[in-house]
Order: sequence, then C-alpha cells, then structure tokens
Amino acid sequence: MPVLVPTSLSEATDALAAHPDATLLAGGTDLMVEINDGHRRPANTVVSLSAVGELRSWRIDADAGTVTIGAGVTYTDLLAEPLASLLPALAEASRTVGSPQIRNAGTLGGNLGTCSPAGDGLPVLAACDATVTVASARGSRTMPVTEFMVGVKRTAIQPGELIHEMTFPLAGGFQGYAKVGVRNAMVIAVASACLHLDAGARTVGLVLGSVGPTILRCPSAEAHLAERLDWSTLTAPPEVTDRFGELAAAESRPITDHRSTAEYRRHAVGVLARRLLRRAPGARRERVV
Ligand SMILES: Cc1cc2nc3c(=O)[nH]c(=O)nc-3n(C[C@H](O)[C@H](O)[C@H](O)COP(=O)(O)OP(=O)(O)OC[C@H]3O[C@@H](n4cnc5c(N)ncnc54)[C@H](O)[C@@H]3O)c2cc1C
Repeated sequence: MPVLVPTSLSEATDALAAHPDATLLAGGTDLMVEINDGHRRPANTVVSLSAVGELRSWRIDADAGTVTIGAGVTYTDLLAEPLASLLPALAEASRTVGSPQIRNAGTLGGNLGTCSPAGDGLPVLAACDATVTVASARGSRTMPVTEFMVGVKRTAIQPGELIHEMTFPLAGGFQGYAKVGVRNAMVIAVASACLHLDAGARTVGLVLGSVGPTILRCPSAEAHLAERLDWSTLTAPPEVTDRFGELAAAESRPITDHRSTAEYRRHAVGVLARRLLRRAPGARRERVV
C-alpha cells in the first residue's frame, strides 16, 4: 500500500483531500498494535505525520494566556521543560505512559485519535478545558475537547481532517493527575483522575478515566468543592475532602472487566480525588506567563 510522507501541514491536508479515507499514522504505538493483532486493517493509503513540522511544535500566546501543543508532540517532549512546568498535570500523565520507547514515539494527538477511555492524556485535556483544532484542505475548526470525544473510541473528526493542535488555557492554581493500575509501570489505567483548580476563575475541573464508556466529568463533586475550597490557600477541611471523594465515586460509571471490578474502580476514584486535592496546597496561584 502507498505510504505518503508529507513534510508540511498543507501537504498533509492535500494528501488527505486526495485520499479522504487514508489511515493516519503518528507514532504508531496504538495503530501498529491494532494492525498486528488483526483488529484493524489500514486503508488503501497511509499518511504518515511524523515529518510534519507544524504538528511537532508548540507555542505560548502570552496575550491570550494559552499554550498550544501540536498533535505530534510526544510524551517525552511534554516531560521536558518548560512544558512540564506550564502543564504539570499533562507531564504527570505523560510520565505514566508506557515505557521510554513508547513515550518517545507516542503522541498526544494519537492518544486523542484513539480516544480510549483509558487514554492518560484525555482526562487532563478535559479537566483543563482544552480545545482541539482539526485541519483539512477546506480550512480548520476548533471545538472543546469534550465535544471532540463523542464516544468509546469515537471522535468528531470527519473524512479529510486531521488533528492539528490542542490549546490549553494557562491558569494559576493546581493541576494534578493520578492513576491506579495493576502494577506501577507500563500499565493501562484501572482508574485515573485529573484535578484542575483554577484559582483566578475559582473553578474546579475533575475528570475521570477508565471508569465509564468515555472519560467522565464530575459536576457534583466540582460544585461541592468550588463552594467550599479556601481559594487563597487551596486547602479544604477534611469533611469537605471526604465528601469530594464520595461524590466523585458516585459520579463514576465503572464496569467489571479483565483489569478490575466495578467496586474496586469506584473505591479507587474516591481515593484518587481525595489524594489529588490534598496535593493542591502550596501550588503556584498566579499564572506562569
Ligand atoms: C506497550 C504500550 C504501552 C502503552 N501504555 C499506554 C499508557 O500507559 N497510557 C496510554 O494512554 N496509552 C498507552 N499506550 C497507547 C499509546 O501509546 C498512546 O495512546 C499514544 O498516545 C498513541 O499515540 P501514537 O502517536 O503512537 O498514535 P498512532 O498509533 O500513530 O495513532 C493512534 C490513532 O490516532 C490516529 N491519529 C494519530 N495522529 C492523528 C492526527 N494528528 N489526527 C487524527 N488522527 C490521528 C491514528 O490514525 C490512529 O487511529 C501504550 C501502547 C503500547 C504499545
């Protein structure tokens, strides 16, 4: 089968316009596993994105207070400074992904492209209210990441489109990611959570992974905490923290499968939510840029 290797975004979108059903290949750490296991057959044409410079880059917009990450930025890139300090929860999530080899090849865009409820990048994107920009030969469109993820391994991407970049607001406050698996490394999450406390807007984002058909936002837990958190110190009394964990667990929709039981997952969600909240005091309350 032909493998096209565009070297710019416009070449990539032109290639997709000519072959709208082409299979996109970034790091290949999801795609090649699916192909090797016989779960997926690539389309007649493969478009490799690894040489598209625009997808491998990132930038800060100080006026808008945002950082924009190209879809082809790898986990290893996200762990390096200054990105790790700009987006600490994303760095924490990246640190838990696979092995060094997987983190060198795997990309945030590929995580979003697969859109598994266990994808470690996805709770962070949602908790931090990131947007996704998709590009095609017809132009580009931007949407909240929660609109982009429409179901289990299903996204809003249309034929001829690719994920170009993701934009995160740079807020002061706390952001953290935590995950439970069946062992400490090289593990798909049994349950995961990202907590984002925006000290300027006084909003709470709590998003869970691996405990529902898609990642799940926790509106009751968020509202409970937003009203009761001491926003000047990012501390909460023990009873508020405990209730936060209970509400998060109640908002999860876990199932029992080969990795864990629904009961254990629900329990783990409460632990993760409380653990993240207890880490918040001492976080930088001003915006980094
Ligand atoms: C051993 C191993 C361990 C792993 N551990 C973890 C883990 O701990 N946590 C975790 O979350 N994941 C894990 N993964 C899964 C995988 O590494 C990640 O999901 C990774 O982010 C996928 O990125 P990629 O660049 O390799 O994507 P690819 O495999 O190249 O692509 C994945 C999907 O996204 C599509 N795609 C890629 N780029 C774009 C784009 N720009 N626009 C539109 N569609 C696109 C592809 O067509 C494909 O459908 C693991 C995989 C392996 C093999």
